[in-house]
This record gives sequence, C-alpha cells and structure tokens, in this order.
Amino acid sequence: MTLERLNEIKKLLNEYNYQYYVLDNPTVTDQEYDRLMQELQDIEMKHPEWLTSDSPSQRVGGQVLDSFTKITHERMMLSLGNVFNEEELYTFDDRIKEIYPNVEYVCELKIDGLAVSLVYADGHLEYGATRGDGTIGEDITHNVKTIKSIPLSIDYDGDFEVRGEIYMPKQSFEDLNKQREKDGEPLFANPRNAAAGSVRQLDSSIAAKRKLDAFLYMVPTASEMECQTHKESLDYIKRLGFKTNPMTRVCSSIQEVWSFIQEMTEKRNTFPYEIDGIVIKVNHIQQQERLGYTAKVPKWAIAYKFPAEEVITKLKDIIFTIGRTGQITPNAVLEPVRVAGSTVQRATLHNEDNVKSKDIRVGDYVVVRKAGDVIPEVVRSLKERRDGSEKEFEMIDECPYCHSKLVRKENEAAYYCLNNQCDSKKIERIIHFASRDAMNIEGLGDKILEQFYNLGFVKSIEDIYDLYKHEQEIIEIEGFGRKSMDNLIEAIEKSKENSMEKVLFGLGIKGIGAKMADNLSKVFKNMDALLEATNEQLISIKDVGETIVDSINRFRNDSDSIALIKNLKILGLNMDYLKDTSLLQESIFNGKTVCVTGTLELMTRKEIKEYLARLGANVTGSVSKKTDYLICGKDAGSKLEKANQLGITVISEEEFKEEVSL
Ligand code: NAD
Repeated sequence: MTLERLNEIKKLLNEYNYQYYVLDNPTVTDQEYDRLMQELQDIEMKHPEWLTSDSPSQRVGGQVLDSFTKITHERMMLSLGNVFNEEELYTFDDRIKEIYPNVEYVCELKIDGLAVSLVYADGHLEYGATRGDGTIGEDITHNVKTIKSIPLSIDYDGDFEVRGEIYMPKQSFEDLNKQREKDGEPLFANPRNAAAGSVRQLDSSIAAKRKLDAFLYMVPTASEMECQTHKESLDYIKRLGFKTNPMTRVCSSIQEVWSFIQEMTEKRNTFPYEIDGIVIKVNHIQQQERLGYTAKVPKWAIAYKFPAEEVITKLKDIIFTIGRTGQITPNAVLEPVRVAGSTVQRATLHNEDNVKSKDIRVGDYVVVRKAGDVIPEVVRSLKERRDGSEKEFEMIDECPYCHSKLVRKENEAAYYCLNNQCDSKKIERIIHFASRDAMNIEGLGDKILEQFYNLGFVKSIEDIYDLYKHEQEIIEIEGFGRKSMDNLIEAIEKSKENSMEKVLFGLGIKGIGAKMADNLSKVFKNMDALLEATNEQLISIKDVGETIVDSINRFRNDSDSIALIKNLKILGLNMDYLKDTSLLQESIFNGKTVCVTGTLELMTRKEIKEYLARLGANVTGSVSKKTDYLICGKDAGSKLEKANQLGITVISEEEFKEEVSL
C-alpha cells in the first residue's frame, strides 16, 4: 500500500466520475468503481495524513455542466454510505443502537436513477434540479415538467422541497435502445445512464419522448411540517399527489431489515424499474437530526447494495484442473474481485473451444459472471483494453497430474485423462464421502471440493477434518468470507457426530449403497464389529450376497482402508450406530429437514439437535425451501419470518415436547 497506489486510484476514480456523472457514459461497472472506492477509503483510514479534501472519497457526485443554469441547493444533497453484506449492515445497526437501542428503521427500494430536488413556491413547481456536486445542481425544470407523475402544482402554501429519484422504466429503456440501434446511435449502458442522459438535454422534446418517471422519497423539512417520522412524511407527500414507492416497510429490528432485503433480492427482477439495493433509514426525524451527517453522507441512513452478478477484472493466468470423470477444464486465475456477494479469484473457462471462440487471453480484462449459486465464469474479454502484452491461449496435451496423454472424445469439446490411477479418482472418493447421502457436509459440494483439491487443501478424506488449518487462505483466496468459512467448519465438525451408516456409505465400498449401509449398521451397531464379522455373519444379513462379502473383505484386507478408518477415529468421527429404531419408526421428523431457532427452555441447542438427529432428522442451520419443520423457541427472528413466508410448518417448543413425549 503506497502513496503511488493512492494517487493511481484517485486518478482512476476521478476519470470514472467524469465519464459517469458528466458524460452519462460509464466505462467500468459500478462494482469495480465501488471496489476502488473501498480501497481508497481503506488506505485513507490507515493513513489519515494522506487524506485531502479533493479526494473522491470526500466528494458527492460530479461536475455541473456549464450549459445548464446552476442552482444552489438550500440544504446539501448528499450521497449514501454503502454496505455490501449482512455483517456490515449489523455494524451500521450497532453504531445506531449505541445511541438509540430501540431504533426503528424504514426500508425502501434503492431506485437506480438520479436524484432530483423539486422546489414548490405557494403550490407551484418553481424548479427541478439535479444533485450535481451536492451543493450546486443543474436546473432541469424544463425536462422535469415532461414527467407526468410529477405534479406541477400541489396544495401547499409557502416554500416546499421534496426529493426523489428520476428513473427510466425497464421497458422504456429497452424500447429506447432498440430505436437507437436502428438509428445507428450508441446504446445506453443501463437505465440509470439513459435517465441521466435524458434529463440533461437542453431540448425538452427529447426527454418527453423518453418516458421517464419519478419516485419521491424525502422531505428535507419534515420536522417543520410536524412529521415525527420519515414514514409519516412519505404518507404526507403521497397525499399531496407525489408518487411514492409502495415497497416501503417500517422495521423494528435489524433482523426484520435483513428479511426485507432478502425478500426484495428475490423479487428484484419482477419490478418494472431497476433497483440496485435497499436504503435503510432511521425512522424518527429527531433521531435522524441528532445522528447528523458526515461531509458526504447522512449517518442515519445506509444503502445496502445488491451483490453484482457481473464484474470486470484482470485475467492473470489460465490453469488446468481435473474433474472426477477425468475431464480437464481451463480456469481463469483472476485479480480478486467481488461478485454476487463473495470475492472471486478463479472462474471457469469451460473448454478449449470456448476460450478460443471468445479469444480470451492471459492479461485481458474480462467480464466475470456469477449468478446465484452458479460457479463463476468468464463471459467475454474486453479487447478494447488490450495493450499488446496479452498472451494467446494454448491447450495442454498432457494430464497435469499423471502426465498421461489427454484424449478428446468424439463430439465433445472436453479433453479427458483416461488413466484410472490418476488423482481425479481420489477427488471422486472425497466428493462421495462429503455428499448429502453420506456425511452430508453442507457447503462442501463437488465443485468446492474439486477446487480445494486442486489448491492442495484436501488431498484425502482425512484432510476434510483438517481444513480449518487453511482457514485464512480459504477466506482470502477463495473468497468464501468469514461467515461461510465458519459455517463450513461447523458443518464439518457436526458431521463427526453422524451415525455409523453415514460413514459406512461414505467409504464408497463397492456394492454398499445408502440402504445397505443402513442394514449393516443396524445389525452390527459399530464399525469395528462390522469389520470383524465373519463371512457367515455377513451372509446371514438381509440382501447381503457373495459380492458384498467380497467387497467388504477386499476393504478390510486393504491396509490403506484400515488406516483410513483408524485416522478417522483419531480425528473424532463417531463409528457407532446412533439411530434408535423404536424412536425412528414413530417420529414425524424421520427423514425430514429441520431447523431450530429462538431461545429454548427445554434443552440446549446442541441437545435438541442431537435428539433430532436420533429421530432421523437432518438438522440444518438455516431455513430454505427444503426445510420441512422449524422448531421455534422464544424471541425467534428472521428464520421464523422466512419460514412463515415459505409456508413451512412451525412447531413451538411445547408442541415439540408433546410430539416426542418428553
Ligand atoms: P449511490 O447511488 O450509491 O446512493 C445514493 C443515491 O441513491 C442518492 O443520491 C439517490 O439518488 C439514490 N436513491 C435511490 N433510491 C433512494 C431512496 N429510496 N432513498 C434515498 N436515496 C435513494 O450514490 P451516488 O453518490 O449517487 O453514486 C455513487 C455510486 O454510483 C457508486 O457507488 C457507484 O456504484 C456509482 N458510480 C459508478 C461509476 C462508474 O464509472 N461505473 C462512477 C461513479 C459512480
């Protein structure tokens, strides 16, 4: 971290600001901009002596164009601070709660448009202005008047200012770009820039054709109008005839705020306009006033920004990984970048044909996408940003693990290593061990394990239980984040308590599927008894034939397999059959996915989880569509709300007690 880097970032941000705010034509994604801004703020925090008043971190918005009449805002129009995840949101809440422990919030959609200030004098629209640099904005009254939902007169005596967002509905944006394409004009990057470009036209007939709209969301003088809360002020402007956004919710806790965010994240694509996050505001005006402002943002509000699904970063290298079928995949090594909520530094390039047809080169700037749970992929390269130092892609012809010749199967784009002794087989075994029907380690799916294997973190089944040793590397390198790493470690630890049949199935002994593993475990009750059983004992068990006896014998005569069992015991894995069959048959929880929340009185959290496991339940840490029951103690929060939204059966602790006759 050097002064040189600081100056480089400042220069870049100033350039991006100019392209975004003045030309309405961004050249980088908002996420890349936000990442750089974050880096700048981090450096300035560590080196306050380097902070200057003209730093982009200290300034709101951009320049004001000379072609417009300038308007000085009576009260500054500020930006908003950002948070990007649940943890940062809770930190914001902690800060507010230090002063107001019972704070109430209002959550609003963050409309992706541009801020506008509308000023009325004795009920008549006097002017509309852009935010500009926060102090001075541009007079865009002629264009504001073309927006039909903005009233030209209101029932109000005296001066009145209201602020909100001018936006371009998605449909208008698509129509506009289609038309521009036909006319051979450059396309707008997104509805925000199209809206900004439209209101900053000198000729109002252009804006009139662009079908803009506006939501109003703030009255700077709310307290003077005797509104106690922000919500009251929103209701007030609605009565005056302004369009306010219906998806606004008062929340009495940060858990409720988080639920709202999750709900809106799911609904995001169903709105006819773009939103890029959720704005969280302290509801009580007096509290807002006491909390105050920094030079750039209010301290009583924050914007939660949705994780980007597409970002730009540099492709540093291309490496090859091998899948469990022996398939070889080229992977991009990226300069770490935040995408869809996590930091990514690897992305799949699928296969040779894909890389070649997209002409992706080492050293390129590339667009990386990660939608939902999908593994990150490189969508395209930005050829216009090449400087000549980029290297063309070359496919390998040998397996990177065992060096045998790769084979491209007919009609397939992929190359394979066909050597059965190759490492790829080991990956397959580890994946099977962690899989849902075996040890069921949540968060350790096949893709992740392949990645961990390729990075050398998990080379054997035993290594799973030593994964915590790589905690720091995983958080930093894999972009897991602290929270998912904690969850993973918890899931790995939890798996140690699994009943014997899970381990047995996980060992992948030929012929022993989940059902057979259950059969054998029920009879022998622990692993040692099974491994010491005579062939006659084995063959007497239901569905066990010569083939299964043979594979058990092969397994117990193999020193590596016996060493594996020994090591797993040392690592603390349970090898006993834990299910109580009499309990199981009657239990409504047998085979169901159950989550526990709230404060319990009957048992500790750990005890109830163990008990549920004995009843055959799969106990999870979060509520999802897959959850069958939520057992709910006192003061349950977001999990209960989510369960209700998803229509999941909620059982109180008392009902649970009755159900299991405790
Ligand atoms: P912002 O967009 O992060 O948030 C503040 C703005 O949100 C407000 O000014 C207001 O216009 C808007 N908003 C929408 N709904 C709102 C609501 N319900 N309540 C209150 N405000 C609401 O901040 P900004 O200062 O306008 O812009 C900075 C952001 O713009 C950056 O974080 C970046 O994402 C983007 N940007 C991108 C580039 C680029 O080159 N891609 C350059 C500059 C800025």
